Amino acid sequence: MSKDSLRKIIHIDMDCFFAAVEMRDNPALRSVPMAVGGSPQKRGVIATCNYHAREFGIHSAMASSKALKLCPDLKIIPGSMDKYILESRKIRSIFSEFTELVEPLSLDEAYLDVSSSKAFGGSATLVAEEIRKKVFEKTGLTASAGVAPNKFLAKVASDWNKPNGLFVLTPKLIPSFMLSLKVKKIPGVGKVTEKKLNRIDIFTCKDLQEKKIEILESHFGKFGKVLKERSFGIDNRNVVTEYPRKSLSIERTFACDLTSLECKEKVPQLISDLCGRLQLFKKKKGSDDLYISKFFVKLKYEDFKKMSYEKSHSFPFYESLWREKDISLPLYEYLNDQFERALSKSPKKIRLMGVGVRFGRQEMNYDNFSFNQLELFTKDLN
Ligand SMILES: [Mg+2]
Repeated sequence: MSKDSLRKIIHIDMDCFFAAVEMRDNPALRSVPMAVGGSPQKRGVIATCNYHAREFGIHSAMASSKALKLCPDLKIIPGSMDKYILESRKIRSIFSEFTELVEPLSLDEAYLDVSSSKAFGGSATLVAEEIRKKVFEKTGLTASAGVAPNKFLAKVASDWNKPNGLFVLTPKLIPSFMLSLKVKKIPGVGKVTEKKLNRIDIFTCKDLQEKKIEILESHFGKFGKVLKERSFGIDNRNVVTEYPRKSLSIERTFACDLTSLECKEKVPQLISDLCGRLQLFKKKKGSDDLYISKFFVKLKYEDFKKMSYEKSHSFPFYESLWREKDISLPLYEYLNDQFERALSKSPKKIRLMGVGVRFGRQEMNYDNFSFNQLELFTKDLN
């Protein structure tokens, strides 16, 4: 018996989460196209938008300036992380009523393994419905849910009847469901990968099933095998509740405090050291699930005051991208820019400089690693 015939996985995904919170708190926003995101003047991006805005083709990670071109009436509000974190906690506490095996992917998304849950006579479908109901009662927000024997299919399923929907893929339904499923529905297949697949006549999972693994591997490397498995609805990944490491960083305390100008000279070495550490970590960890979600730099001044700058960024922690030649240039440009900004903020001398990355676990598009200009996370630690 395959592993999947024994498992019951639920994927819960809140419907346009940040935007939904804002619409709940200000109902006037419900009837207009609106988004939570950064200012177009500051090269901000859209974090989330409501369904009216989506009708104009606006989506997450789009530059706010582009979104405004598509929809000049779009209302962009900066949003409030504290509020979203609070709602996210409420939602997670509901999950924990049903299982301890919860893998949060972001503030508004999680996998739940309810294989051993006794609730509702062991019906994962009824558990998913109950969770959606409780989430709405407690937060006034709607969630969509997918129920399936593995994470990949549960994620596809939660998207199927979105928003405010439920879709159940029973083991019996899977073989026929897979045949017509478009390849772009496979997590990890973004626009670039989709085009590459289309060029070798692959449009649906059925096409993928029929393609030789050698051909897929020659085009997509390690991801070729993943694609082949997914096309048959196979995904053996477990619901992982704990990852040992959420970030990786290095810092240097200087023997004597340095001026901004002197600090600038230290930047290339600092970044190169970070790249080295990342590659070592990658070798040990060997996971394709992990991706870099944020970069940060920090400074400690001569008076021991600290300042840190964080920026969201999507960058797959995918083997081939972690050769130094591939990552160091964009990383260097970005971090150098951050240091420039940070160092220009204060004339004070600096005693410590640090640089690091935070990891995320959400499946992401392997072809989407453009810089995300979202500035929601810039923090002053004073
Ligand atoms: Mg969502």
